[in-house]
Amino acid sequence: MKVNTIFIHCSDSTWGTAIEINKWHTQRGWKAIGYHFVILNGMIRPSIKIEAMDGQIEAGRQFNTQGAHVLNHNVGTKGICLIGVDKFTDKQMKAIKVLLLELLKRYDLTVKDIKGHYEAHSHVTCPNIDMNWLRRYVAEEEPKPRITIVDKLIHKIRSLQC
Ligand SMILES: [Zn+2]
Repeated sequence: MKVNTIFIHCSDSTWGTAIEINKWHTQRGWKAIGYHFVILNGMIRPSIKIEAMDGQIEAGRQFNTQGAHVLNHNVGTKGICLIGVDKFTDKQMKAIKVLLLELLKRYDLTVKDIKGHYEAHSHVTCPNIDMNWLRRYVAEEEPKPRITIVDKLIHKIRSLQC
């Protein structure tokens, strides 16, 4: 099945991991976690923060199988879940950009094919992120270093001539 859309979600919890969400979803009677990826905020338990896990990307549902994350839109889509309610860390944002760029390339998609859950179902606010902002953020190039290698070389040549 051709993938045509990547959906973004939030966990609507302040903490969590892929294993934890797998528990929550299987308790609801689903066969496994509904999302294909989970991006951690470092809070792996309600009161345990592991800084090194902030921005970590975890595998959710088996990559090549259909997810369960947007009712009536699970065919031809992938689901990414950010741990959090409405505040996400810089590391999570950097991680989702890297992951999205990789998925867009893999499926030959553009940033327009990245959607928030609320854009398919207007009765939800998930992922509580302005999706126009997120699409712009993913599309924008990384800031280039102010001094390039060429600048550095020119500077070197000048200082040699003094
Ligand atoms: Zn959602």
